[in-house]
Amino acid sequence: MIKAIYPGSFDPVTMGHMDIVKRASKAVDELIIGVLVNSSKTGLFTLDERVELLKEATKDYPNVRVEKFEGLTVEFARKNNAHLIVRGLRAVTDFESEMQLAQTNHFIDPEIDTMFFTTSLEYHFLSSTIVKEMSSYGQDVSSLVPPCVAEALERKKKEKK
Ligand code: ADP
Repeated sequence: MIKAIYPGSFDPVTMGHMDIVKRASKAVDELIIGVLVNSSKTGLFTLDERVELLKEATKDYPNVRVEKFEGLTVEFARKNNAHLIVRGLRAVTDFESEMQLAQTNHFIDPEIDTMFFTTSLEYHFLSSTIVKEMSSYGQDVSSLVPPCVAEALERKKKEKK
């Protein structure tokens, strides 16, 4: 039984993340998405909102689970009996920090490896930050995020007014 975790901020989940979920969930028996509290990024959505949006977006994937976690990614992997960490690679700019993260995690626990999926071409430019920025300036992001996220972004804008 191959289990993998897919950790990230997911603030909010985009079609880029969904593309990785779709492909990774085919490669492993169980994929556990870990939504983390990231102190270096200011979130638009609360941790619970991010988890709920991911649950809704992945409800048709029977082997995908969503959980929140705090602290070391390696600890989260161990807790779930997973030996693989899934990450997505977009541009060269992702590469350096992702390699450092992967090597750090492997150093902490040599039983744990990171598996990278390169982004599909149509999502190369896509990030949660880009989506939030476009949406805040009134741009249509419905093709870039799952429908529940598009709705949630509209709700956030109304709350702010
Ligand atoms: P983090 O704060 O951990 O980077 P993110 O939610 O921004 O959390 O990203 C989680 C993972 O998803 C990262 O490995 C990131 O590279 C990947 N990812 C994000 N957007 C895309 C995309 N458009 N295509 C492929 N991978 C992506």
